[in-house]
Amino acid sequence: MNVADSARLADELEALGYGPTSQPEEADVVVLNTCVVRQSAEDRAVGRLTSLKPLKERRPRMVLAVMGCLVGVRPADNLPQRFSHVDIFLPPSDPEPLIALLRQREQEPRSRIQEAGGGGLRSRRGPVAFQDMQNVSPEAAAMGLIPTERVLQPASCILPPVTAYVPVIYGCNHVCAYCIVPYRRGRERSRPLEKIVSEVQALAIQGVREVTLLGQIVDRYGYDRRNDGSALSPDLADLLRAVHDADGLWRVRFLTSHPSYISDRILDAIAELPKVCEHIEVAVQAGDDDVLRRMRRGYGVADYRALVERIRLRLPGCSIATDIIVGFPGETAAQFQATVDLLADLRLDTVHVAAYSPRSGTLAARKMVDDVPAEEKKRRLKVVDELQEQIVGQINRRLLGQTVEVLVEGKHKGKWRGRTRTTKLVFFQDDADWRGRLAAVRITWAGPWSTQGEVMADASP
Ligand code: SAM
Ligand code: SF4
Repeated sequence: MNVADSARLADELEALGYGPTSQPEEADVVVLNTCVVRQSAEDRAVGRLTSLKPLKERRPRMVLAVMGCLVGVRPADNLPQRFSHVDIFLPPSDPEPLIALLRQREQEPRSRIQEAGGGGLRSRRGPVAFQDMQNVSPEAAAMGLIPTERVLQPASCILPPVTAYVPVIYGCNHVCAYCIVPYRRGRERSRPLEKIVSEVQALAIQGVREVTLLGQIVDRYGYDRRNDGSALSPDLADLLRAVHDADGLWRVRFLTSHPSYISDRILDAIAELPKVCEHIEVAVQAGDDDVLRRMRRGYGVADYRALVERIRLRLPGCSIATDIIVGFPGETAAQFQATVDLLADLRLDTVHVAAYSPRSGTLAARKMVDDVPAEEKKRRLKVVDELQEQIVGQINRRLLGQTVEVLVEGKHKGKWRGRTRTTKLVFFQDDADWRGRLAAVRITWAGPWSTQGEVMADASP
């Protein structure tokens, strides 16, 4: 969601005439986009913000903005005191206050700006430095999970992205016991279907080939609009069908799903619409009913097992990704073992695992004791990671000798890099320019985190 928010802000700044730079030292505007889902993410954001203070003091006319979950939908009163060197705080997904500030500065006579700021604005069309302070590893960045080309290249080199994120529903109503997201991103707000469809069509015209529709619980798209007494508003299945018609678009994805809301209508849409990829991200969080109940997730282990069965029956070959939290308050060794057993049994394609991190204000932080020691959380993380490495290694080895369809996103260390419909990472070498093309690739090597192959044909429509 932060990557999508950054991309939208970048578009609006580019429309004002700004271009990107990777160097905050040469930027006229610096925006720090923040995530606080875990304490480590918040610490990184605050550390980066503090390290920008000397730069702001040297260059007072530089605009320093903080965006995202550190700010939240109802910014805390003490933020300006805590970070007095910051010019403006932007709630998640809302770049408007910064755009208004920059427009207002453009109206100011240049001589006044120079008097007031000392250094003065170098150029109205100056560069912007961007930083996504998220929980994303360097490996994830290297795999293309962060659109680095967007933020690191000089303006003249920007190519239209091959893939793009499109938020369809903001906020979350669920209030899981451990999660800070609803407090910072507010209640659910679905965007109108027509707006999403025209945005996707515009992206496809620019050359975007794959869009990922985003929501904290994306399958609840449209639910908030049903409560206003109006006729049934479109749901995610309707949205997938509407977006599917965009000319020039080759692939559609969506995330994140919640086990309680994946309807048969959604599964039917995935099965029937050729552009919609067979991949579902649906977090289970834990493999024990008591832990799930205390997490306030709203389903049990048997429900999750039944869901996986339903997905696999309706969509054979569909890949499934999940999230796990280890070391939730009160999680016993036996309860953790139940999670391990569930994962060993279900053999999912991807597991994002995190150690429980108490977030101030959440139910878990207020009412439960963070009683699993840090060392034990680390051990549990390792157990899940090692199990999953084995499982994914075996799943990926089944691809050996098969020809898969890869949407090529760019080059990495001299090799073309792209993903299959089921999000498997594929590298191959070839002299032709494959960026933004669909390649038919025969897999010749398969490891747990990536595969390699040789290109057989251009499969682009
Ligand atoms: N809405 C999605 C769902 O319900 O599955 C997930 C979105 S949440 C922002 C992303 C992931 O961060 C969660 O699935 C959870 O595993 C992890 N997470 C959230 N709060 C956490 C916390 N306090 N400590 C550790 N991990 C956390
Ligand atoms: Fe957080 Fe739960 Fe909402 Fe997901 S569903 S964003 S975990 S509160």
